[in-house]
Amino acid sequence: MSLDLALRLLDLEDQLLADARRKKSNRAESEALPLDKIYTYEEIDEYLEKIAEAHPDVVTLVVGGYSFEERPIKYLKISTTNFQNSSKPVIYMETLLHAREWITQSATLYAIEKLIIDVEDSDLVNDIDWIIVPIANPDGYEFSHDGNRLWRKNRATGYMVGDVCVGVDLNRNFDSNWSSHSSNIVCSDLFHGREAFSEPESQIVRDIIEEHIDRLELFLDIHSFGSMILYGMGTGQLPPNGLFLHLVGIQMATEIDKVKTSWNPNYIVGNVAAVLYQASGSAQDYAQEVTNRFAYTFELPGYRYGLGTLAGFLVDPAFIEQAGFETWEGIKAGARYVRDNYRNA
Ligand SMILES: [Zn+2]
Repeated sequence: MSLDLALRLLDLEDQLLADARRKKSNRAESEALPLDKIYTYEEIDEYLEKIAEAHPDVVTLVVGGYSFEERPIKYLKISTTNFQNSSKPVIYMETLLHAREWITQSATLYAIEKLIIDVEDSDLVNDIDWIIVPIANPDGYEFSHDGNRLWRKNRATGYMVGDVCVGVDLNRNFDSNWSSHSSNIVCSDLFHGREAFSEPESQIVRDIIEEHIDRLELFLDIHSFGSMILYGMGTGQLPPNGLFLHLVGIQMATEIDKVKTSWNPNYIVGNVAAVLYQASGSAQDYAQEVTNRFAYTFELPGYRYGLGTLAGFLVDPAFIEQAGFETWEGIKAGARYVRDNYRNA
């Protein structure tokens, strides 16, 4: 793709998203955020506060800690039993560990809506405890709005003289084969940081995993793009439960494919290294290693006119709600699998 075309696509995204913002929502009667636009950190923050206040019986808002630039990283705990019933599995979902992957926010926002506001599958609320982190990398996410749209990493400084380059790829900063398939060059998009868990953002995810490790059955790190459901290990070596990881991955992908838009490809399911590339220090690998249960990276579909280029990260406003809806169809299948096979698989 030529630079000129890429710049025009960036402009087009700007205009379409700005138009979507001006449009009056036809869902003003619902307390759920309408999924026809992309929300800023502040807007999502306000929404999480509001939802938690309106539904204290099932929702707890937690400040997991603070980002490098000291933004609170907030998440929702959703439970009908206040996380006190150990016979329920815990499911963890996060989006925006990578800043530029804007389309993914509809996956967590849609899940929040379907678990709290517009509940259609009450078994999922009653039988499972949920942890939902909508913005795992707030500094990078804000910078992708007001600095560089295609920013991926966090915004940590102090890694080189004059901070000519900044930021750590948080999805290479976890303590699982750390540094074996990533970059030690600060300017690289795959820079793995000073050491495993050098970054506050990855530490927060680690701490949540540790807190719930006895019951954490399904860990979903939602990225874009590529229409893929991936599992460990990033080295290419399969975890002991590789067969089950694959089967559950296929169940989830099949449900998404049933309702996907015609122009997107079917999902591909497989080991990260086999399908995409070798990668070390990912959140998914860390969760897989410490829980030995079901950890996946989702790659949601890319922008249809940008496939094969960085423009695949751009967002078509018409696809935002669909992305949330179809991903949720997949997640529901995974959730019911782990519920029905809790610590028995
Ligand atoms: Zn990503």
